[in-house]
Amino acid sequence: MLNIQENKVLSFYTTFNIGGLAKYFVEVNDEYEAREAISWAKHKDLEILIIGQGSNMLLPDEDFLGLVIKNNIKGIKEEKMDDNYIIVTAGSGETWDEVVKYSVNKKYWGLENLSYIPGTIGAAPVQNIGAYGVELKDIFYSLRVINFNSLKTEVFKASECNFDYRSSIFKKQLKNKVFISSVSLKLSLEAKPQLNYGSLGKLIKKDIYELEPIDISKAIVEIRKSKLPEPEEWGNSGSFFQNPKIKKDHFEKLKVKYPDIKYYNLDDGLIKVPAGWLIEKAGWKGKSLGKAGVWEKQALILINLGGASSKDIKKLARTIIADVKEKFDIELIPEVNIY
Ligand code: FAD
Ligand code: NAP
Repeated sequence: MLNIQENKVLSFYTTFNIGGLAKYFVEVNDEYEAREAISWAKHKDLEILIIGQGSNMLLPDEDFLGLVIKNNIKGIKEEKMDDNYIIVTAGSGETWDEVVKYSVNKKYWGLENLSYIPGTIGAAPVQNIGAYGVELKDIFYSLRVINFNSLKTEVFKASECNFDYRSSIFKKQLKNKVFISSVSLKLSLEAKPQLNYGSLGKLIKKDIYELEPIDISKAIVEIRKSKLPEPEEWGNSGSFFQNPKIKKDHFEKLKVKYPDIKYYNLDDGLIKVPAGWLIEKAGWKGKSLGKAGVWEKQALILINLGGASSKDIKKLARTIIADVKEKFDIELIPEVNIY
């Protein structure tokens, strides 16, 4: 039996600590309840908003007049695929980092670089989460969804998810059209350390042949804790903008003006310029506008300085976008889901 609540405060459910009231709100604990909730909203002709742990969304200050479905579908299980691979499957409301810890402790390879990312595993495919040179798509096997229209369950394999840089079919064409109910990952029993990102390799003191996933995981947790704001202390949604990719001629012009520009050559011939570098160079690191601020250790993260509204964060984001555009002729695109 669904427990539909009314007028629920949504700011408690987002790591920005921002959001108005939900007219209707329900927590679902299994696929059956999720289907019931979707069906209930459809019969009432209500919009649906799925919330995992709210760590990649900026909700409006105004009330949401539809049904918020808070995903609490838990459980982790595994199955041996062959001598080299294990399939780990988790309920979509399972905390991502719990799945990482489960796998790393069992010495399965693949998730260690993605340690300590907030959120649920169900939201991980939505933006194809990535960090330290690894993306979800690299270890993704399949996922199950409930289709809002048919209420039927469908399975998506990797090739059907349109995974791209911080994007997927679930962030674009299928946004608000499906509920991801479980996710399966293909993890390796064979050692596959990925240490090419920045100075990650230098931080690992062990000989490469003795390395275990936990060694890499620990190093990453340490860097992340030293650099990123804990949402419990400072409301935030991680990187607010995507890293822009620009054409070579545009980059060459910038390089003349800013010889210290940071950049990475991409396989498609474009050049990735870290958005954090652009924002910092534009003078925004550690600065604020009203109750919205730019994190002092990584300018890509916008923070709630306490009591900020959605409008405050959006105003700061707009101001930064305009400033970066003026200085570098680059249009920053938000990574956070803005409602
Ligand atoms: P939510 O914010 O609850 O939802 C995000 C979007 O997915 C929403 O549009 C929502 O409707 C949709 N959604 C959620 N669950 C489902 C579902 N079951 N079915 C269908 N749609 C769904 N991201 C990275 O990629 N790399 C990082 O290194 C990283 N570091 C971060 C560090 C910090 C401090 C913070 C605060 C965030 C960071 N993020 C990072 C962003 C965030 O953690 C991820 O995007 C995460 O996957 C969001 O999970 P969530 O459960 O909180 O999603
Ligand atoms: P960082 O190491 O200071 O690097 C800044 C940017 O440069 C990163 O965004 C990264 O792009 C890029 N970069 C660095 N080394 C690279 C390499 N060898 N090849 C290609 N690109 C490289 O970044 P950070 O802020 O401390 O974050 C570390 C990692 O965690 C990054 O992968 C970042 O994406 C991830 N992270 C993500 C979020 C989020 O909310 N999305 C929040 C915190 C951290 P990429 O972003 O493309 O990797």
